[in-house]
Amino acid sequence: MPGLRVAIVGAGPAGAALATLLAEDGHDVVLFDDERRPELVVGESLIPAGIPPLRRLGIETAVAAIGMRKPGATLTWSAQNRFSFRFARYSSWMVPYAYNVPRREFDALLLARAEAVGARRSTMHVGFARRSAAATPGSNGTAGDGAELALAPDAVAATGWPAPDLVVDASGRARAAARLLGIPASTGPRNDVAHFAHFTGYQWSDEPGQVLIDRLDGGWSWRIPLNERLSLGVVLNRAAAASLGATPAERLTAAIATSDALTATIAGAQRRTDVVTYSNYQLISSRGVGPGWVAIGDAFGFVDPMLSPGVTVAMRSAEMLAACLAPWRRSRAGATPAALATALQPYARELTGLLSAWMEVVGYLYDGRMLALIRAGSDMMAERSGRFARALQDHIEANIAGLASGTSITSRYSLGLLRFLGRHGLRGVSPATLAIQ
Ligand SMILES: Cc1cc2nc3c(=O)[nH]c(=O)nc-3n(C[C@H](O)[C@H](O)[C@H](O)COP(=O)(O)OP(=O)(O)OC[C@H]3O[C@@H](n4cnc5c(N)ncnc54)[C@H](O)[C@@H]3O)c2cc1C
Repeated sequence: MPGLRVAIVGAGPAGAALATLLAEDGHDVVLFDDERRPELVVGESLIPAGIPPLRRLGIETAVAAIGMRKPGATLTWSAQNRFSFRFARYSSWMVPYAYNVPRREFDALLLARAEAVGARRSTMHVGFARRSAAATPGSNGTAGDGAELALAPDAVAATGWPAPDLVVDASGRARAAARLLGIPASTGPRNDVAHFAHFTGYQWSDEPGQVLIDRLDGGWSWRIPLNERLSLGVVLNRAAAASLGATPAERLTAAIATSDALTATIAGAQRRTDVVTYSNYQLISSRGVGPGWVAIGDAFGFVDPMLSPGVTVAMRSAEMLAACLAPWRRSRAGATPAALATALQPYARELTGLLSAWMEVVGYLYDGRMLALIRAGSDMMAERSGRFARALQDHIEANIAGLASGTSITSRYSLGLLRFLGRHGLRGVSPATLAIQ
């Protein structure tokens, strides 16, 4: 017996991962994607917590072939404040590596995997409609009796079903369902703008694959090596961005010129793409589930580019959602919109918790407390080099690395330790000096 009829709108990492997991579980899945993507898509740097989902999806080897192994990340805030992390140092806590991936190829792998296990695909741009209470089950593209929103009739026709049991909004930052239904979101303090491009012929003196993050005036930059290409981007507050020029290319060029390190990296390099702009915001929907529908990935919440959680959260949200739908993997019996909405409440709670934890941890990096804590620890080590001090410092760093790699992002102990030390463990190091404006 087939499981649920699930229409997934959006084939980014969230939608394609979910399509794979649900099709493997025996559900009948149609995955829509309008393929309206910019030339370059952000989300090129993965984190160790993203590796278990890749393994579960059966694509780690293929990802390794298109990507570059990422040993860690180096955060340079000033000449005196350079923090270099290698995941392998914490190998008893986490997967000791991650990957940098070109997003188009990465998404194509995920999509191919979904199709290989039986998900059907459509390139249609899908419209949603708020459903009126009087609508008849199964008619006019509705998702069945009591559903809160409907797919447009042409999308329902493309599925071949009278109506889907569940509509999944995986539309990314378009947040199609939340916007239609007027669902509010809690927002974080950052509202930055990012400009980035790919370069070839760049100079690299760091370890291959290491991701380099540098603090800039009014923001920060990323350098993500992707084999022969380098992704170089700047994330700036709006005033700083505006002061650097009128066009994205002017701003990226001017921001690079403010940094000796960035200038040296692209000396003699060639820009191979247009400069692409993303506006960032930090946002978690107050509701991501309703009768007949659910949101995953960025459509549910977006944290920040800092620490690179997005693609991993997208794949994790797919895993969490698939687990909640497991009771229907062999039969659609009882899959009313209301019953599904109830079954998906634990998913919504877990994902909200995950997004909130990321939002908090990213906040510690922006306001300077996370690096002040590490600075205070290394200053202490310089003063006293006893075994106890070393063990304490190792423990603190491992917990912070566990959070920043996503491995223990929801660990109450690690978060509690960060909060406690952020208040009491800074030993005179001022977080303001390590904050990002
Ligand atoms: C500046 C910046 C830098 C970032 N850097 C990183 C990073 O280094 N690492 C990382 O992990 N994350 C990063 N992210 C976040 C990452 O890009 C996202 O979290 C991730 O892409 C979310 O995946 P998704 O599947 O939810 O959505 P998306 O990848 O946005 O996919 C949504 C898909 O839905 C399709 N779609 C939308 N509406 C419709 C419709 N109505 N009908 C049909 N199709 C539709 C779109 O075309 C798209 O293909 C960054 C984000 C920003 C803004």
